Amino acid sequence: MMKLFDFHGDIGYAIMKQRKCTIFNSLTNEQLPKRKAGGFSWVCMASYFEGNESWNDMQEMILALQEEIDQSFDIRLVKDKDDLTKEALLHAICTVEGMCGIQSDVEEKIDWLHDHHIKIASFAWNDENALATGVRGNSNRGLSELGIQALKRMQQHNMIIDVSHANEKTFWDIMENCNDKVMATHSNARALCDHPRNLYDEQLFALCDRGGLVSVVCAGAFVHPQREHQTIASLVHHMQYLKTKIGVAHIALGLDFMDDYDGATETMLTDLKEPSNAQKIIQEMKTQGFSRQEIVDIAYGNALRYLYSYL
Ligand SMILES: [Zn+2]
Repeated sequence: MMKLFDFHGDIGYAIMKQRKCTIFNSLTNEQLPKRKAGGFSWVCMASYFEGNESWNDMQEMILALQEEIDQSFDIRLVKDKDDLTKEALLHAICTVEGMCGIQSDVEEKIDWLHDHHIKIASFAWNDENALATGVRGNSNRGLSELGIQALKRMQQHNMIIDVSHANEKTFWDIMENCNDKVMATHSNARALCDHPRNLYDEQLFALCDRGGLVSVVCAGAFVHPQREHQTIASLVHHMQYLKTKIGVAHIALGLDFMDDYDGATETMLTDLKEPSNAQKIIQEMKTQGFSRQEIVDIAYGNALRYLYSYL
């Protein structure tokens, strides 16, 4: 079984949802077995915020997730680069999707996230917030002054900025303000599937120029506009395309499995609905002619190398 590194799963969100139904330890009881079956050794566990959550809500979810990680014998919280390769069934890298809860005291709050081992964060989900503008926000609005403050603080801490979900103006504002530590954790190629969550070639080149990764995502609508083509084969076509544009060294996986928290498997690929079946991606990469080394690089090698240089 090939080891896998997944740059995006809304696991903080999934755990909070379970806790609200008084179900504790869903990380150990539900998430872990499925990831283990799929071959995952590293998962970026996102605390995800849609736009209305407060700073308290953000802290509550991050702390709940880390409590469940701490309680698991098999999951290691990644605090520094050496943790990436220490013995563990699963390595948890904590991330944040959308920082709508930050509306003041930006530096202090980014410091808190950094102190709580958040390694990657995006400024906004699809919403428009005090820091930035997501894909469903005003297309003329990008990063705010507060957003630029947050970006600068993140860069000082070597926290990686995630541009998945940023609208185009926000994307380019981010590019203007940073030379590295920026990536897309779960987006595909816009040339193959014209969805606002996917990236145009110019955006791919800009990330590549900054040493960034583009992690392909298996949400059906980001893979192909027609349901019958929302398959693993089409997902691997995105890898083929990215390979021709930016090279294998810049490709990773950011699968965004949603089966955990809303049973939304109908939004996933028709032949890949949950993490336990993720090895089917590796099979398809072989079928489409990726070499053994290319498969290792995309499955986890690029991700480890990338994080190792910043953590
Ligand atoms: Zn997302």
